[in-house]
Formats: sequence, structure tokens, C-alpha cells
Amino acid sequence: MKAADRAHVFHSWSAQGLIDPLPIAGAEGSYFWDYDGNRYLDFSSQLVNTNIGHQHPKVVAAIQEQAAKLCTIAPGFAVDVRSEAARLVAERTPGDLDKIFFTNGGAEAVENAVRMARLHTGRAKVLSAYRSYHGATATAINLTGDPRRWPSDTASSGVVHFWGPFLYRSAFHAETEQQECERALAHLEQTIAFEGPQSIAAIILETVPGTAGIMVPPPGYLAGVREICDRHGIVFILDEVMAGFGRTGAWFAADHFGVTPDLLTFAKGVNSGYVPLGGVAISAEIAATFDQRPYPGGLTYSGHPLACASAVATMNAMAEERIVENAADIGERVIGPALREIAERHPSVGEVRGMGVFWALDLVRNKETREPLVPYNASGAANAPMAEFAAACKRGGIWPFVNMNRTHVVPACTITEAEAKEGLAALDEALAAADAHT
Ligand code: PMP
Repeated sequence: MKAADRAHVFHSWSAQGLIDPLPIAGAEGSYFWDYDGNRYLDFSSQLVNTNIGHQHPKVVAAIQEQAAKLCTIAPGFAVDVRSEAARLVAERTPGDLDKIFFTNGGAEAVENAVRMARLHTGRAKVLSAYRSYHGATATAINLTGDPRRWPSDTASSGVVHFWGPFLYRSAFHAETEQQECERALAHLEQTIAFEGPQSIAAIILETVPGTAGIMVPPPGYLAGVREICDRHGIVFILDEVMAGFGRTGAWFAADHFGVTPDLLTFAKGVNSGYVPLGGVAISAEIAATFDQRPYPGGLTYSGHPLACASAVATMNAMAEERIVENAADIGERVIGPALREIAERHPSVGEVRGMGVFWALDLVRNKETREPLVPYNASGAANAPMAEFAAACKRGGIWPFVNMNRTHVVPACTITEAEAKEGLAALDEALAAADAHT
């Protein structure tokens, strides 16, 4: 299998000649395994998408039933599973986000949210945060603030970046959460003033930025951005592709902050990625823009029946089995306290951040100076400390989500207390590999 993979599969984000993908034999619940009998506790939820765990029987059955009934139908028709999936998403998203445009994943959701905002406002620019990831298609990669953008940056995309709040590595020399919040909002106001409010269609933020470091925003920040958007007629887009559907211990991360955006992008957890699906939840006001005039965008597979059937089954199972509540409980009672205790014992753990089943350890060479364990955007030999740490995790039976100098603890929302403890013990041991570089 390795030979066929090497010969024909062109892998994401990789130098094709330098990678050695692990052949996977199967998966169930919080685990997956290879052909050599190695079983891994999935502390990554793949790409932070298997919120309901692997191979949930109700979701698998729903896909099988739908496949037998109707595999595909164009987006222009009304189909029971599509309308039910849209109804369930609308019911769970905050406020009046009651119309759902389905896509095949997160980047397409972001592309379409930006297009809607531009058409709604008649303006072109979009503001996004430096420490962010919004996807790898043309607009989404330009919106992405972190270095994953650099090789694809077109510079003429109409995107302007700004600094969001992040007290541990404050761009504003703030010392308290309140200072960080106030200064980040003032900085955003200044950015808008100098860009020209009349030229800005939208501000897009991850409610809780994910792959850029799981930085829970300080109280008041998102409400402050909402107020700024309202004052300037700017569309507020929250990207919940990663933070949505239970990940933070609420249906949506926005629920923690009492904020309703004008557009909310989702994907991943909506059906745990069993069949590709994403979408945009649209406010009544923006939906009205396209009531009598056509929305100039669409996708052959928008609202694909197999994807929608799996989304309906996922959302129903999440409610029936109290899976969002489980994520909140395990995060607050087990993962958070354990990680804070681990941080005290390991010289390489600079900060613990997160909520629900959405946690990051910021790994450092020196706790005092907060120098990251590896340089920003390191690769090859410069990244060896993180590579050694990731290898130690795998030897210990956990599959980590590692990005730059961080490891993220992002298991399924269904993880049990015993599984979480098993994984945290393995993580504790693996951190010795990071400590060796402090
Ligand atoms: N937005 C966010 C916040 C994401 O985390 C991701 C994926 N990691 C995307 C957008 C892009 O989603 P996709 O890979 O499904 O296109």
C-alpha cells in the first residue's frame, strides 16, 4: 500500500519525497490503528474534525440508508435530508442565522461568506487576524494570517491583516486580559480608520482561533468587534469551522461570548467529516439581499444528500447522547486541571490555553523569556525538538496535533474520562522529549 500511495497520492502541505504516511487499517471511537497492531488514542481528532469520534454507528447507518435511497441530486431540488440538516444547523446557531448555504468544506464556506459580505455591502476589503487560518483556496489562504499564507499570497486580494488579542505573546505589551482587550480593540479601530471604513466589507475572525494556537479571546473582545462592525456597517463573520459543533463545550464557541455574527462558517464537526460538508449560516438581513436578486455562486455538491444525512444523524446523536455536555465536562473537570498540573512540572510548557476539548500547550525553551521551543515557522533541523516530541507521543500511543511550537489536545467530544486520563499520562511522559531542549 505504501508503494501505491507513494506512486500516485499527492499529499497536502507536504514535500512529496520527504514524507512517509502511516497506512491505517481502521478506527473506532477515540482510537485508530495501523496494520502493525499499533493503536493510537486520537488526540488530534484527525484535523480536529471527528468530534463524534470514529465510526459512530448511528452516523454510519444514516449514510448507508441514504446511499440506498438517493446518493446524489443537484442543489436546485428540495430534498428531505438537506432541509432537515439546514433546519438543525439553523436551530443550533445563535440569533437569526436561519438560512444555510452548504459547501463541501471550510475553505469554500469562507469563500462564500466573503462573497456574500462583498455583495451585501458593495465594498471590497476584508480584515482578518494575523494569527489565523481560514483555508487553502484562493481567498481563504489570503485571509489566513499565519505563514501558511506566504507561498500563495497574491497581495492584491483586498485582505488587510490586524493583530487579535493574545496576552501570552501580546502585540500590545499588555499585562492583563483587560488591557489586551482594550488595546486590541483600539488597534482594530485604528486599522479601520486608516483603511477607510467605507471600503471594508467584512471582518472575519475565528471565534477561538484554532490551528494558530487556541487563543480564547478575553471577555468583551468579540462584543467589542460586534459593536465596531455595527457602527461602520461592516459584516461580522465568525469562522467556526474548527471551534463549532461541540469542540469548545458549547454548540458554537460564540455561545460562550453571547455574540451573534452576520455570517457563521462551519464544517468539520457538523458531521465529523464522515462525508465532506461545510457551510455558511446567514443572517436574515444578508439573506434578504438575495431574496429578489440571485446569489451568484453555487457548487455541484452543495448540500450533498450523503453529507446531509450524516449531518442530521450527527447532530441528533450529539443531542441524544449529550456529547456537547461531555466535552464541556471532560474539559473543565479532567483535561484543563491535568494540563495545568503538567505545565507546572515541565520546563517546556509555557502556557496552557483552551476550553472544552480544545486545548493547546505553548512549548518554550525558557519559561521566563517565553522563547518558543522552535523558531517561528521552523522546518527541517530547526524543527527537530517538535518532531522529537511528536515521535515520543506516537511511541506512547497518542496521536498529537502539532503545529509550530504548540501541541494541541483536541480529542473527540465523546472522549471518556478514562481515555482522557490515559492520553494525558502519555502526553506527560512524551513532554520529557521537549524538556530536553529547554
Ligand atoms: N477555517 C478554519 C478555522 C479551519 O480550522 C479550517 C481547517 N483547518 C478551515 C477554515 C478550512 O477548512 P477546510 O480544510 O475544510 O477547507
